[in-house]
Amino acid sequence: MKIHEYQAKEILRRFGVTVPEGKVVFNPEDARTVAKGLGGTVVVKAQIHAGGRGKGGGVKLAHTPEEAKQHAQHILAMRLKTHQTGPDGQLVHKVLIEKGCQIARELYLGMVLDRESSRVTLMASTEGGVEIEQVAASHPEKILKVRVDPALGLMPYQCREIAFGLGLDGKNLGSATKLLTGLYGAFVGTDASLAEINPLVVTADGELLALDAKMNFDDNALFRHKEIEAYRDLDEEDPKETEARKWDLSYVALDGHIGCMVNGAGLAMATMDIIKHFGAMPANFLDVGGTATTERVTAAFKIIMVDPNVRAILVNIFGGIVKCDVIAGGVVSAAKQLGLKVPLVVRLAGTNVDAGNQILNQSGLHIIAADSLRDAAEKAVAAARG
Ligand code: GDP
Ligand code: MN
Repeated sequence: MKIHEYQAKEILRRFGVTVPEGKVVFNPEDARTVAKGLGGTVVVKAQIHAGGRGKGGGVKLAHTPEEAKQHAQHILAMRLKTHQTGPDGQLVHKVLIEKGCQIARELYLGMVLDRESSRVTLMASTEGGVEIEQVAASHPEKILKVRVDPALGLMPYQCREIAFGLGLDGKNLGSATKLLTGLYGAFVGTDASLAEINPLVVTADGELLALDAKMNFDDNALFRHKEIEAYRDLDEEDPKETEARKWDLSYVALDGHIGCMVNGAGLAMATMDIIKHFGAMPANFLDVGGTATTERVTAAFKIIMVDPNVRAILVNIFGGIVKCDVIAGGVVSAAKQLGLKVPLVVRLAGTNVDAGNQILNQSGLHIIAADSLRDAAEKAVAAARG
């Protein structure tokens, strides 16, 4: 799960990381009030779940409260396009108003779970403020990495190693250690999968400050972090994925044209692979799971049907625990409620397959039957091409 910058900063602040003073607002008038309260120069920052806002025009300096109001007015009406939003951009619903600062240096800090070493890994670079992917590609030697032993946690000597690597010394050694320890505490304490401060700045006064913040979380651990779950912003999420979560379905929207309904993650991946093999792309990943009821299957099928990208639907079910007649019932019920507007290819095998096929045959729906995975994929790809 992703959250907004202002929310990540709330978390980091709680763990002792220094962040600029500021407040999120939803309208230009409040932007002015907050800017007036902060005094001096402020920064107006679009809050969307994507980076690269600065380049896209979503981060503006304002020298007066009136200017803050004008920037907020402009940004709040924006469809902000960045390299992470896709071509349509993302509508901005809120802006963060923060006290401005004089930047002397922009640094990079990131924390991820490195799967190769199975360790939380801290990455730091003197090349802050820019896309770290570019630094990693052109100057990998400029990224310093420190792996954390889970039994020991982030050690003070590791903090000093990072601080020296970033060219920090003197009074910044102590504040860097405090900041890095706070970042690690926040990462572990919230079951984060990513925490990034880009840029981490040294101000003209020599202070260390997290100017930007990004955090992602492990969905499988959200049940033990209600306060993180409460940060969820449905405006930023695909409504199809929101609906799928409501029904406890594993669904991921993709860019292709073949809607897939499958049971079991492994079979779902195999189905996606074979669709690709025959020259098309899946419109989604969807695992209805082993405990599918008619209601859940109906909901799942509706999510696929409302996707305007879908040109053909492929239902591929191996009835092990899940029963083919339950799947067939859900498919027919959804198709009757919404009207089937694209070709439907169905391959059923396993438990109650005869009962399932009978439901499909008697439904009056035009269904293209398939008897193997290969046959199903070929037929779906052909049907999608029209
Ligand atoms: P991103 O583009 O989405 O990553 O948004 P950031 O929060 O990183 O902001 C982009 C850039 O705006 C930063 O790299 C800074 O150069 C600049 N910026 C942000 N806050 C301030 C500020 O308080 N003062 C100044 N001078 N620049 C700022
Ligand atoms: Mn940034």
